[in-house]
Amino acid sequence: MQTLIKNGTIVNPQGCSRLDILIEDDRIVALGPTLRAPGAQAVNAKDCYIFPGFIDTHTHFDLDTGSALTADNFITGTKAAALGGTTCVLDFATQERDGTLQQALAQWHEKAQGSSCNYGFHMAIARWDEGVRQEMAAMLEQGVSSYKMYMVYDALRVDDGQIFLALQEAARLGSLIGVHCENWDVLQQMIQQVKASGLTGPYGHPLSRPPAIEAEAVARFMRIAQLAHAPAYVVHLSTAQGLEEARRARARGQRVYLETCPQYLLLTDLCYQAEDGAKYVMSPPLRKSWDNEALWQALGSGEINTIGTDHCSFTMAQKAMGSEDFSKIPNGAPGVQHRAQLLYTYGVCKGRITLEQMAALLSSNAAALFGMPDRGILALGRAADLVVWDPSYTGCITDTNHAHNCDNSPYAGFAVQGRARDVFVNGQAVVRDGQIVAAGLGKYIHRSRCSLY
Ligand SMILES: [Zn+2]
Repeated sequence: MQTLIKNGTIVNPQGCSRLDILIEDDRIVALGPTLRAPGAQAVNAKDCYIFPGFIDTHTHFDLDTGSALTADNFITGTKAAALGGTTCVLDFATQERDGTLQQALAQWHEKAQGSSCNYGFHMAIARWDEGVRQEMAAMLEQGVSSYKMYMVYDALRVDDGQIFLALQEAARLGSLIGVHCENWDVLQQMIQQVKASGLTGPYGHPLSRPPAIEAEAVARFMRIAQLAHAPAYVVHLSTAQGLEEARRARARGQRVYLETCPQYLLLTDLCYQAEDGAKYVMSPPLRKSWDNEALWQALGSGEINTIGTDHCSFTMAQKAMGSEDFSKIPNGAPGVQHRAQLLYTYGVCKGRITLEQMAALLSSNAAALFGMPDRGILALGRAADLVVWDPSYTGCITDTNHAHNCDNSPYAGFAVQGRARDVFVNGQAVVRDGQIVAAGLGKYIHRSRCSLY
């Protein structure tokens, strides 16, 4: 089957050009100023941009934190993703403390059945030992070339020595390790101090995890990676201070890659004073406007490589578990549907980043870092994952007018410009005119080594 997308402007990191695109099965088979393909299904993309399908580097679907199960599973989460132009999510398959990586991978393959966009898995290592080290080669053979390690959370955190050993093994395999950087021991003490001072509501959350909690951990991770001769990937960077530590490591010659999230670009800790402050409880917490600004500047200068959502949705009823104690509020917020809209509205339309940078941040950089050479660029022979972006659309996000399976959005009240009008996943139309038209067509992406090694 052929589809001809006509009259659009294609956007790649290297530039924009007015080109038609011909898709056959799951591939781009021709690009040209005026293509003809009798018999092909025609899509008119006049006045629209065509982006390589967006890749969300950070989602948590169907995750049980021990106290709460996320509201979105892969079925609902990947539909919301596709509606936002995301054609591939990288979710976190999470090892259980007494389990193997292989068991976690099998479990996440099961969970992801029926996804509406493509998917791959970072593997979250929750226990380190010689057996786990040996499993990493087997993971690569099965398409897992990236990992996450946590410095926080009792069920997940590993120590610095374990991060060091995992980084060494990852460097040997050409895999990438991302770390959740916060100082657990100090923040545990600070939570007790903040609560003892009488601050038990959501505003206690950012007070117990100030910027230096992140920056200290970023600095430590950078030095551990230096010692391991391994590249370092910081997930969900939220502070100007953390960014400074990453800059220092780069200045020493280290290979450092950074991810941030829309919430750290657009929201501040004033949100915690709102009546529904619990909905903004996530870790790291929301910061100050100057942190937002520092991160926007780092996007513009190319210092930040990827934008993930850290989509981890809970209902307000679940959030109420912590109404007497902020440290018991389930951590996380929904966002998988709105990443591109927010970046377009508040990045491109405000002149902070270019269209080309949007393509790089939402797609190409992730494809390169996470071993998906077939994706992230619109070019001959590449996978036909693409987004027809209508820049004329205007709307406003509310707590309920989205496809997330929960009753809140941290972006409620945000005006947005532009939307994914049509979305193609593996050459098939999954979204037309802003509506899901085909569900469950997502495939597992078998990823290869990080191509930036
Ligand atoms: Zn996360």
